[in-house]
Amino acid sequence: MPRPIRATIFPAALRHNLNVARRCAPQSRVWSIIKANAYGHGIERVFAGLRGTDGFGLLDLDEAVRLRELGWEGPILLLEGFFKPEDIALITQYRLTTTVHCEEQLRMLEQARPAGPLSIQLKMNTGMNRLGFRPEQYRAAWERARAMPWIGSIVHMMHFSDADGERGIAHQVQAFDATVVNLPGEASLSNSAATLWHPAAHRHWVRPGIMLYGASPTGIAADVAQFDLQPAMSLTSEIIGVQQLAPGDTVGYGSRFTADTAMRIGVVACGYADGYPRHAPGWGDTFTPVLVDGTRTRMVGRVSMDMLAVDLTPCPSAGVGTPVTLWGEGLSIDEVAAASGTIGYELMCAVAPRVPVSVA
Ligand code: PLP
Repeated sequence: MPRPIRATIFPAALRHNLNVARRCAPQSRVWSIIKANAYGHGIERVFAGLRGTDGFGLLDLDEAVRLRELGWEGPILLLEGFFKPEDIALITQYRLTTTVHCEEQLRMLEQARPAGPLSIQLKMNTGMNRLGFRPEQYRAAWERARAMPWIGSIVHMMHFSDADGERGIAHQVQAFDATVVNLPGEASLSNSAATLWHPAAHRHWVRPGIMLYGASPTGIAADVAQFDLQPAMSLTSEIIGVQQLAPGDTVGYGSRFTADTAMRIGVVACGYADGYPRHAPGWGDTFTPVLVDGTRTRMVGRVSMDMLAVDLTPCPSAGVGTPVTLWGEGLSIDEVAAASGTIGYELMCAVAPRVPVSVA
């Protein structure tokens, strides 16, 4: 008997969320970001839902090759330009656009002299201080790239550090615009947060990731409702055991949760080895929300490797076999993540390989 835990992927939700991105940025083309195995959803599984996109952005060559093998003929962007000299032939063979963000990569391209035309996105560091040429180095980098006859189009690219936060985007947009002034070429600036909230940054291409999967870049569940995003994944399981507790009984490792009245708890087949966060709180002032047969309740005690416990007080008819939603339809992943002090990105990427996945 397989364990009842399961992740389900919803292509219709992906399609819907892509349309939300298009409605938010109607003048822009969309790179759908599917790095990290499509944020844990599986590149093969999201492909059907997102094939109406203009291009896919991902991280490495293996993922790009998988996408070509699925039959995707359109643009593919290697987001961080991880390549070695020996990869350049493959990049041209598979018609990939690669990001170029540092001196070493420019030198590699100068020395490689590939046969075919190569499209690149030249990355500017406008304040994220992760990858990219600083504004004062950028124009020289662009001149060098343009001087290589084997480089075709050059898109100006940057990434926001705080498009979903208090600092906002103005300082980065300003640095970007001041640097590319009078340079020909398209521009690509916006992640999900900027796609949702900052039309001035939309430009030729937007690069939404998390919003396509139906979660918020801020981690605030209300944003999802505001923009009518739909969850592209649900993580569900079942109750596999029930315990009747007396006042004073405790639950799980470390005896963190103590029943103050008589209560029933359900034991659910889902644990940290499935990717559920071990630090999800089930005692004290904050509890992690869970749905039992559609009724909202709370996780109690510590998450163990293969199991967690839920309070059955609001669902008296629940018993062994009753379905449980850990996140998905009716329970936002953002809310579950927030209870654990993290963001939906981390939870969806962490679903473990042992969890069976189906496509709805
Ligand atoms: N563009 C780049 C360069 C990224 O690294 C990412 C993800 O971190 C994205 C776009 C998509 O970001 P988000 O998932 O916040 O939309």
